[in-house]
Amino acid sequence: MKLRFLGGTSTVTGSRYLLSDDNHRLLVDCGLYQGVKTLRRRNWAPFPVDPSTINAVVLTHAHIDHSGYLPALVKNGFKGKIYCTKATHELCNVLLPDAGYLQEEDAKYAARKKFSKHESPEPLFTEKDAREALKHFESLHYHETFEPVKGFEVSFTPAGHILGSSCVHVHHKGSDRTVVFTGDVGRQNDIIMRPPEPLQHADVLVCESTYGDRLHGESDPEAVLAEIITKTAGRGGITLMPAFAVGRAQMLLYVVHKLMEEGRIPDMPVYLNSPMAIKATEAFIKHHKEHKLDQSQCALIDDQTQYVRTVDEAIELDTMRYPCVIVSASGMASGGRVLHHLKTLLPNPRNSIVFAGFQAPGTRGDALVNGAQKVKIHGAYWPVKAEIHNLDSMSAHGDYNEILAWLEQGNLKPDKVYVTHGEAVASDTMRKHITEKFGWDTEVPELFEEVDI
Ligand SMILES: [Zn+2]
Repeated sequence: MKLRFLGGTSTVTGSRYLLSDDNHRLLVDCGLYQGVKTLRRRNWAPFPVDPSTINAVVLTHAHIDHSGYLPALVKNGFKGKIYCTKATHELCNVLLPDAGYLQEEDAKYAARKKFSKHESPEPLFTEKDAREALKHFESLHYHETFEPVKGFEVSFTPAGHILGSSCVHVHHKGSDRTVVFTGDVGRQNDIIMRPPEPLQHADVLVCESTYGDRLHGESDPEAVLAEIITKTAGRGGITLMPAFAVGRAQMLLYVVHKLMEEGRIPDMPVYLNSPMAIKATEAFIKHHKEHKLDQSQCALIDDQTQYVRTVDEAIELDTMRYPCVIVSASGMASGGRVLHHLKTLLPNPRNSIVFAGFQAPGTRGDALVNGAQKVKIHGAYWPVKAEIHNLDSMSAHGDYNEILAWLEQGNLKPDKVYVTHGEAVASDTMRKHITEKFGWDTEVPELFEEVDI
């Protein structure tokens, strides 16, 4: 069996890994590149192997950096099935058409502003392409073994990162070798997600390293958030939380309502301004057995949150002059409705902006948490006067200590580990941590490298 790294090397985006033998090709994850322009440009390069020669795709989870290239793959000739867990399927139903819509909007914007080299810039894929890709989906339960491609047996185990997220286990019958892709790995003690299930066997492990060189720290994120919201409200300001529509948005809403119920922050309206996050919240409530919150805790989110669905409602929200909390996507402020709020709220020192997850280099989120004095939004610069906070400890990714602890809980003796899904320094530091702790042969692969496993 061969493994080729088609993405997710020295970056946290564009996860794509190709497994093959003499007769078949199985792609694990099919993500979009995000962040700095040199990475985003890679989305436009021809896919490194002809999509029509790939027999099937398996997804670790729904996030766009793992699933977002699927509509382009189908558009360019992929004919097989796309396998994932049930919740991942449901979330992709929401995320992929939205990604297509955003691609179309970007192309229109480029045409209007004439900053594209092309006469009439085309989107990478459209909402219609995304709906076409969704017809290829087939969902399975965790721990159910299936054979997406002859000779490759696959199963999913919970990865604790977001709803439906999984580690993908692939057993190649011909060589009797098992490779496990961790996907994105969740926390040992997350507020809403259960911890990732320990891995029992892998000959080869492909491990993420988003926080390969960082720890989340000991501070209690609920207490920190309570203090920020209370102080901001005290000076008549608004707390804006840019959040990933799937995952952290639901967690933040739950924490805010819990703090309010416990009297740790003043009563005030809480808005969720992201049509996608609203749909993801509905899926989160429906699949309550897959996470820590019970039905009454889910009801707390649902009853107390004011969902902002239409653009008119969103514009009205921007004129708000009294304390409130707004959760809006996207989480790295790279697009979405949160940009409109930032334009209104950033120039005023009364307000607070709270990021709650990994900020990829090159994004506005990254610039803001690193102290930018102004940021460019919709072609103009906006001064940063609001307080900026980064609650890294609310991330949906385990830090390196949590991942090492999780690997130790299992029964692993891999003969090779490949570290992916991290910035270059983070991946290399993770490589050192794994080698030092377990003595396993560990490497950081290069883009397009192919290895015999
Ligand atoms: Zn993810």
